[in-house]
Amino acid sequence: MKVQQLPSSFEEDGSPSARQHLACFVVNDIVSIDAGSLAMAATDIIRSQLRDVVITHAHLDHIAGLPLYVDDLFATLDSPIKVHALREVIEVLERDVFNWSVFPRFSEISGSRGPSMEYHPAELDKCFDIRGLQFQLFPASHQVPSAGVVISDTETTIALTGDTSSLEGLCKTIGDFRNVKAVLVECAFPDGLAEIAKRSHHMTPTVLKGELSKLPYDCPVFVTNIKPRYHDQVVNELTDLKIPNLEIMEVGRTYFW
Ligand SMILES: [Zn+2]
Repeated sequence: MKVQQLPSSFEEDGSPSARQHLACFVVNDIVSIDAGSLAMAATDIIRSQLRDVVITHAHLDHIAGLPLYVDDLFATLDSPIKVHALREVIEVLERDVFNWSVFPRFSEISGSRGPSMEYHPAELDKCFDIRGLQFQLFPASHQVPSAGVVISDTETTIALTGDTSSLEGLCKTIGDFRNVKAVLVECAFPDGLAEIAKRSHHMTPTVLKGELSKLPYDCPVFVTNIKPRYHDQVVNELTDLKIPNLEIMEVGRTYFW
């Protein structure tokens, strides 16, 4: 399984910055989990193949690139961009983003070869297939309707928490899976901002360490979704905590799991 977090901000030499504002993880060049930087950072290969987007929740940093991606492609699409998400998340997208005021309602617009965009409501704890990959959403704890996601092919499973203040849903769900090669977890704030993290339903390094101790078995953990302003502080605190099997996910790097 090939996985890459697409960058949204860059260093002076053009290389991806470790400090990222947007979340977007592309799997096998054909499906993305969240779409924060999808339109801005997709390669031509991704643009030509990726027609499925799984959205964990409707916060802007996870959806910002979705309207722009559909807008970029809609005139030339042979098949619609399919958006897979909880029904409540789809309702927010239609009401607050694709509402003709913020952006056109692409679910009602067809290009020369057919519809531009269609919604595929997903339910928690039920499997669905996207082009040979199996997906399952699990509950996240993040104030708004949110989910994490497990992705499997015939050999490999990975999981991604999305934004969450707890790993309860992840722990319950991955017990049913084998060959979990990577768990991508959020850790938005440093410990000094524990109160803000709690109020906004995110994790800090100490909270993450406690939550990871509840995993049903050991597996490699990759930290993502660190608030850019606090990136170095969060990384230093995670390093000091010496959490086994944990590393920081590198933006722009292609992982093969
Ligand atoms: Zn969020």
